[in-house]
Amino acid sequence: MALIVQKYGGTSVGTVERIRAVAEKVKSFRDEGHDLVIVVSAMSGETNRLLGLARDISSEPSSRELDVLVSTGEQVTIALLCMALHELDCDARSYTGSQVRILTDSAHTKARILDISDKPIREDLAKGRVVVVAGFQGVDENGNITTLGRGGSDTTGVALAAALKADECQIYTDVDGVYTTDPRVVPNARRLEKITFEEMLEMASLGSKVLQIRSVEFAGKYNVPLRVLSSFTEGNGTLITTEDIEDMEQPIVSGIAFNRDEAKLTVAGVPDIPGVASRILTPVSDANIEVDMIVQNIGVDNQTDFTFTVHRNEFERARRIVEGVARDIGARAVIADQNICKVSIVGVGMRSHAGVASRMFKSLSSEGINIQMISTSEIKISVVIDEKYLELAVRALHDVFELSKKAEAE
Ligand code: ASP
Ligand code: MG
Repeated sequence: MALIVQKYGGTSVGTVERIRAVAEKVKSFRDEGHDLVIVVSAMSGETNRLLGLARDISSEPSSRELDVLVSTGEQVTIALLCMALHELDCDARSYTGSQVRILTDSAHTKARILDISDKPIREDLAKGRVVVVAGFQGVDENGNITTLGRGGSDTTGVALAAALKADECQIYTDVDGVYTTDPRVVPNARRLEKITFEEMLEMASLGSKVLQIRSVEFAGKYNVPLRVLSSFTEGNGTLITTEDIEDMEQPIVSGIAFNRDEAKLTVAGVPDIPGVASRILTPVSDANIEVDMIVQNIGVDNQTDFTFTVHRNEFERARRIVEGVARDIGARAVIADQNICKVSIVGVGMRSHAGVASRMFKSLSSEGINIQMISTSEIKISVVIDEKYLELAVRALHDVFELSKKAEAE
């Protein structure tokens, strides 16, 4: 018997039939004797529908009122799920974020959780009740409703699991786990039995959208075992947990992530003197534009090239800023390129293995793919390449690191 937090996402509760199916699932866990806390999202499409209504009324709705509005989506689901559980003779109670008291800061639409009181939940559990909590929402110290940012129900689930010291936090979604890469690009991509928090963070931030990034950070910080599974099919899903150093068969590369949302700016012929990198990037960050990869060459003839990438949505803004700076510092030109993508290999096994980068680069070159930028961390190597080679690159790398093969230890 365990204490399990289960989170069901929007598609898992997208219709009345789906809510009934979730109730059946919850009931079957309850019948096995587990204590259950269930976190639900709004029915799929509902949050967007509500945001659409707000936009129809106002081009700049107040963020406090937006939170009051969108939090209703989850409130509908908790009530319906409890009713469905009652129909199955399963005792259950619903709570909004403010009722369980998920205390957050006051940053409306992107609030952070400060504290959760576990006492009321424990009291219900002791009475044999299933506790159903609205995801994505909380309350600030003045009683204002807050929300945690899009996809925030994952974070609610993990935070509750941490507060209750649950045995596992299960995230039910419409995919049956975390894959070595996107199966739409590589049909023989394989579901991973296990992945570390660190790897999952890299995969998530590199564009693999299975979990909200903050929920993974939270789970890693509080060491909450997280499992991603499908609410539509049976299976063990993928367990996200701490690194198992005993695991001798750990793969070198666990997965391949990619991202088509970036664009590249190069300031060419930058004077090779102290302070130019900051002169280029400070106005960019002052404009709240996030910079991802940065590459600067060693200067030749007192000149150097400075290249960085930003999100495509912010590309035009970044370009205008950088063109201004380039003139001021006497750089030769700004070269802009939107037709790029980033492909990354991720794996904690890289720490202890040499030659991973050269294998990656060789594989890309044998496909005739030119590498434009490279960046590395301890557990990741990323390259920027021409967007048109994305699929080819991901397939080649999936092959060369033998990711469709099941690891021995699994
Ligand atoms: N309903 C919210 C959203 O669509 C929160 C969530 O689903 O996790 O972003
Ligand atoms: Mg969602």
